[in-house]
Amino acid sequence: EQTPPVILQCDSLTAEFDGFKAVQGMSLALHQGELRFLIGPNGAGKTTMLDMICGKTKPATGKIVFGGTDITRKKEHQIAELGIGRKFQTPSIFRTLTVREHMELAMKQRRGVFAVMRAKLTGEERERIEAQLAMIGLERKGEWIAGGLSHGEKQWLEIGMLLMQEPKVLLLDEPVAGMTDAETEKTGELLREITRTQSVIVVEHDMEFVRNFASKVTVMHEGELLKEGTMEDVQRDERVAEVYLGK
Ligand code: ADP
Repeated sequence: EQTPPVILQCDSLTAEFDGFKAVQGMSLALHQGELRFLIGPNGAGKTTMLDMICGKTKPATGKIVFGGTDITRKKEHQIAELGIGRKFQTPSIFRTLTVREHMELAMKQRRGVFAVMRAKLTGEERERIEAQLAMIGLERKGEWIAGGLSHGEKQWLEIGMLLMQEPKVLLLDEPVAGMTDAETEKTGELLREITRTQSVIVVEHDMEFVRNFASKVTVMHEGELLKEGTMEDVQRDERVAEVYLGK
């Protein structure tokens, strides 16, 4: 089997906050259709890595190439437009808008500022919204007020909104945190479905969840790459056990 091409290449990234190196010499190559888990203890630099990829934090040194384009110095909105979508841990939904209204908002955002003026969505756009609602398992809750959704459903709605932007790469920060077992399982299925066409990096603390996937795992520690491999490889590594799994 041929390895799919690299869609996102991070080379020797360093992030500094007032001289403190939060990330140091981190490299990571994400392939098309890959689901990559980024793990490591608190303060390892995982969130800072996602922040650099989406342009929220500028790397002090190093280079980020996305789909052949150097995005290292690009602005956050430019990177989003190029096709990198970031979901933060804290939900950013509007309690009083319905589920479908959220999706319509995301659709209009995608069209850009002029298209927002055209209030009506096309039939095609409506179909896409319904398909996306089905993918996130909310097809029967389109008329629900978002404030009435469960924690898991709110997370899926946010992922759904992100997907409306048709990103090529999604960056997710602890998507299953606080979810029930059933919600966690459904999120796993959703991630598998997303990676049929898109690539995903997931920062994750829940090791039980990560174990469900045959995906490559990147372990960070004190801003640096500690280990990269399957969950099995990673668990066998003594240094990983020492710093992370507490064995
Ligand atoms: P993780 O996501 O792995 O828990 P972070 O990327 O959030 O780690 O943080 C890595 C280190 O960088 C931590 O020591 C944290 O305190 C520090 N850090 C992160 N963001 C900032 C910031 N904006 N200003 C100062 N220090 C920061």
